[in-house]
Parts: sequence; C-alpha cells; structure tokens
Amino acid sequence: MTARILVVDDIPANVKLLEARLIADYYEVLTARDGYEALAICETCPVDLVLLDIMMPGIDGFEVCERLKANSRTAHIPVVMVTALDQPSDRVRGLKVGADDFLTKPVNDLQLMSRVKSLVRLKNVSDELRHRAETAHAIALQDMAARDRQEEPGSVLVVDGRASSQERIHKALAPIAEVTALSDPQAALFEAAESNFDLVIVNSNFEDYDPLRLCSQLRSLERTRYIPVLLVVEQGADDTVVRAFELGVTDYIMRPLDPNELVARSLTQIRRKRYNDRLRTSLQETIELAVTDGLTGLHNRRYLDNHLKLLIDRAVARGRELSLCITDIDRFKSVNDTYGHDVGDAVIREFARRIRSTVRGADLACRYGGEEFVVVMPDTTRETAESVAERLRFIVESIPFTIPGGEGPLSITASLGIASLVPGEDTPETLVRRADRALYEAKNSGRNRVVAAAA
Ligand code: GH3
Ligand code: MG
Ligand code: MG
Repeated sequence: MTARILVVDDIPANVKLLEARLIADYYEVLTARDGYEALAICETCPVDLVLLDIMMPGIDGFEVCERLKANSRTAHIPVVMVTALDQPSDRVRGLKVGADDFLTKPVNDLQLMSRVKSLVRLKNVSDELRHRAETAHAIALQDMAARDRQEEPGSVLVVDGRASSQERIHKALAPIAEVTALSDPQAALFEAAESNFDLVIVNSNFEDYDPLRLCSQLRSLERTRYIPVLLVVEQGADDTVVRAFELGVTDYIMRPLDPNELVARSLTQIRRKRYNDRLRTSLQETIELAVTDGLTGLHNRRYLDNHLKLLIDRAVARGRELSLCITDIDRFKSVNDTYGHDVGDAVIREFARRIRSTVRGADLACRYGGEEFVVVMPDTTRETAESVAERLRFIVESIPFTIPGGEGPLSITASLGIASLVPGEDTPETLVRRADRALYEAKNSGRNRVVAAAA
C-alpha cells in the first residue's frame, strides 16, 4: 500500500529527515516549506496524508489544518501535526482545528510508520467508497460533510481488565462519547456484534488473556469488521504493536494514558467510522434508487433487463416453468386529457399497488414504462399465469379508482399479455416480445382482457 505524503516544515533538515524515512518505506513524498505552499499543493494534486509542523513563519500549522478541513476538496485528507514539545495545549488546539493525529519531535520510527500506515489505510477505504458514491451522489456528499462537522457524541466500547482504568478512560471520553465498559473479552465481543459502536478500545492489561485474540476476533466477524479498534499497550511493547497492526488493529496508544491523546485518537476513529458508515448507506441508497421507479416504488425497467436473464437461467437450470405478463392501462391518454397529469400519476400509483397486492412475493413486478408493467412469475405455468392476470384484470375493472383530492372514482381497465418460457430457446428479449404481441392482440380484440401467447 503506497501513498503520497506531503511533509511541511520550515526547517529543511526536518523535512529531509522525514522524507528519507518515508521514502525508505516506498512512500511518495512531496515537501513544502511553509503553509501557503502546503495549501497550494493540497489544492492541486491528490495528497493522501499531510505531516504538518506547527511552528512556521507566515501561517502556522493550526491555521493550515483549519483551512484544509474547511475546504470540501481537501477536508478528507488526514493531517498529522508534528509538535516540537509534547504540549497538551497544542493537542487541544490541534483537535479543535480538526487534526487527525499527533507526533512529537524527535519523531520515533515505529510511531511515524504505524500512524502513517493506519491513516493511509483509513483514507483508502474512504476514498474507495467516496468514488463509488460520488458518481451519483454529489449533493448528498456535501450534506454529509456538513453533518460530519456537527460532531454528535460517538459510542465507544472499552474492554479493560481493571476497574480503575475503566473509570479513567470513561472519564476522559465522557465529553465526546457514550462509553460502555466491560472486563470480560467474550462478553465484549458479543456486545460489539450486537450493538453499533463507533470504536472499540482494548486495554492490554488482562491477567491471563491475550488482548490480540479479541482484536483478531473483532476483525473476523462480519458484524464487527468495520469497527475501528484502538489498542492500549505498555511502553516498549513494540512487538505487540507490530502484530496488532498485522491483525488489522486501527491504532494504538501507550500507557500511561494521556487523556488528551486518548480523546484525539478516539475522535479521529469515530469521525472516520461515521464518515464511512454514511458513505456505505449513501452507496446503498444510490444502488436502490438506480433500480427503483420513483413514482410507484416498484423495480424499474433497468432492473428487469438485468434480472430477467438470471431468472430465466435459473428456471432452465432447474427445469422449472416461468411465465411473464405485460399489462398496459386502457385508454390512459384520456385520463390525462380529462383530469390532468397528476390524476394520471395517481392512477398509475394505485394500479401499481393493486399489482403488488395481487402477485406473490416471489414474483417480480416492474414498471416497464409509462403505464405499462411487467410481472415475472417463476415456477408458474401458462395456465396459472393466465388466472393471475385475470384476477388482476378483474381487480382493476371491478373497483373504481378513488383519487386523493376528490376526483373520481374513475373506471379503469387494463389489457394483459402472457408468455411462458420455452427452455433453451427463449432469451429475455424473445420472451418479452411474445408477451408484448399477446398484449397487442388483447388491445386489438377489444381491450380489458387477457391474451396468452402460443408457445
Ligand atoms: P391504449 O389502450 O391503446 O393503451 O391507449 P392509451 O391511451 O393508454 O395509449 P398509450 O398506451 O399509447 O399511451 C399511454 C399514455 O400514458 C401516453 C402518456 O402521455 C401517458 N403517460 C406515460 N407515462 C406517464 C406518467 O408517468 N404519468 C402520466 N400521468 N401519464 C403518463
Ligand atoms: Mg395504455
Ligand atoms: Mg402504453
């Protein structure tokens, strides 16, 4: 996993040092000597991570970070603040301007590499989701970014062997999150799978339990694999940290716990988790929107075109029957002409509702176009399909359509054409075409009737 990292520092020696270490790990490195240059680079070329010095002439690191986070084009780039002194006040200020992480000079190799790796990995996930969702959801994404800044409290699960440190963590996180603390790792795993946490903090202080086991289980369960995991380790437990990262732990923090650092790291993970959750939901909605008809809520023609092939293949493979019905409302133009387009829409909606309540759950009902609908009926012979179609015809004819807002009730009828699958011969196109011809025949022979095509 490589990435492009921007190192910003006004002292050339500092830049050189970080650059050399990153290049040794095959990262691509860009450098900037001041804040203005850094902002210009982030605007113009894709950067995956910024290592940002705080003390710089001109605009300082805090302001650079604030401007990056305020700009929708650069807000998603993770920013690591590099501080000369381990000043809690710097961290608090950094947090306020949206920094994702902190490193203290002189920068320790393990810390540098693990923070960089973790943030780049998180960003890659976000980028992937964002690209997929972006195509259809540019506006929704802007809403998301706005909501992102509102910072509702997160929900955090703390798994910790000792009551005293549970309490300390709870107290530190109280301003930013709702905290659930457990001391039994198995109960914690269960709880994580059942609830919807934004972060799991695992403290490696158990008497006789390997905390990495829980980390690995969290990564392997479907329901918990996207929850970030923050591991608390003893000073010098570098081997544990390396193994934890291999298992997919998202970040780590050393004891003794600095409350500010704990808050900073937790916030970063909570924000990312929320952001990715929203992207996933938005992607799901995009997919659903793309195959759903907005007026009726039925599947649309695009979905039918894709799905019919699969249903036919399945029927052929299993030696099952399959029938298809096309229906078209009779003289619908006159409904529009007499009552207006809105009433026409209401009729279409009610017609779709009657289709839905007439067919089985296993049938696929789609709006095929204007006032034409297709119902695909797996495991259904031509005779059964005819009786289903007849039932639908009757339900439409016998109960006049009442329109919300006072029009009507309107007498509506529909014509229906049926065709059944000829295994091995039919494609989706030939099957639909035969049903369409039957529908045409139903229209020509007087409308308000069902015609089944000869095989
Ligand atoms: P036929 O019995 O031969 O089907 O006559 P028809 O009047 O229904 O004729 P046709 O199927 O050719 O025309 C359907 C009309 O439906 C044409 C179009 O203006 C109208 N229409 C198509 N989509 C919509 C829609 O979403 N809403 C409304 N209100 N009308 C629509
Ligand atoms: Mg019609
Ligand atoms: Mg029509």
